[in-house]
Amino acid sequence: MAALPYIVGNWKMNGTRAMLNEARAIDRSAARFPKVQVGVAPPATLLYRVREAVEYIGVGGQDCHARDNGAFTGDVSAPMLKDAGADFTIVGHSERREYHSESDADVKAKAEAALSAGLAVILCVGETESQRDAGDAEAVVGSQLEGSSPRVDGAPEKLSVAYEPVWAIGTGRVPSVEDVAAMHKSIRAKLVAIYGSAGADVRILYGGSVKAENASELLGIADVGGALVGGASLTAESFLAIVGAAASLGD
Ligand code: PEP
Repeated sequence: MAALPYIVGNWKMNGTRAMLNEARAIDRSAARFPKVQVGVAPPATLLYRVREAVEYIGVGGQDCHARDNGAFTGDVSAPMLKDAGADFTIVGHSERREYHSESDADVKAKAEAALSAGLAVILCVGETESQRDAGDAEAVVGSQLEGSSPRVDGAPEKLSVAYEPVWAIGTGRVPSVEDVAAMHKSIRAKLVAIYGSAGADVRILYGGSVKAENASELLGIADVGGALVGGASLTAESFLAIVGAAASLGD
């Protein structure tokens, strides 16, 4: 059976308690779209409160440390996210890779820590604009996957990959349908090379300037199993328009 489309909001470093109203509104409406899996990743400070405020949607972290505990000031571990009520965590977002100098090995260790803690994982990969211009996009993403895909026990059903071209994040620019299709095909082949036939079932999300206006087109591309959404996830109205587009896919 094909997995449900998965629409995940990444709130990044946005949100105080006032945002709980958005979470509640997202949750209420998501209940009307049972054919779409919905999640939000609020800042760590809000995770527990969002968990308490919602019933239907998943709640996740935006990152986790590779170690379970210790002298790592300011960091949050995977067991802590789990304890706060998280279902999943994002790892390897390009903003973490860039601003926190996270390597593929770091991302892999984080993903493995998250899986060990019982969290599902959304592993982000994506090329920069200069890498795409140089014709290296698929090679770069393939190498990120080789370096950061976690070891999994058995089937990797708790793993999703988010293809997020760095140049499309927060810019309003999106790759062509052909480029997204080609990249998702290449990611699929790499996942099968890494995980064997189980790699065929790993969900591959697209992320980068997904909005109500382009959601149907992007979500309709072969092997696009959902979307990781930044800016447009910050209000229930704009996020739910994307969830609605995902719900209408099979119509
Ligand atoms: C993201 O940062 O994961 C993202 C997809 O952001 P945006 O939707 O704002 O481009």
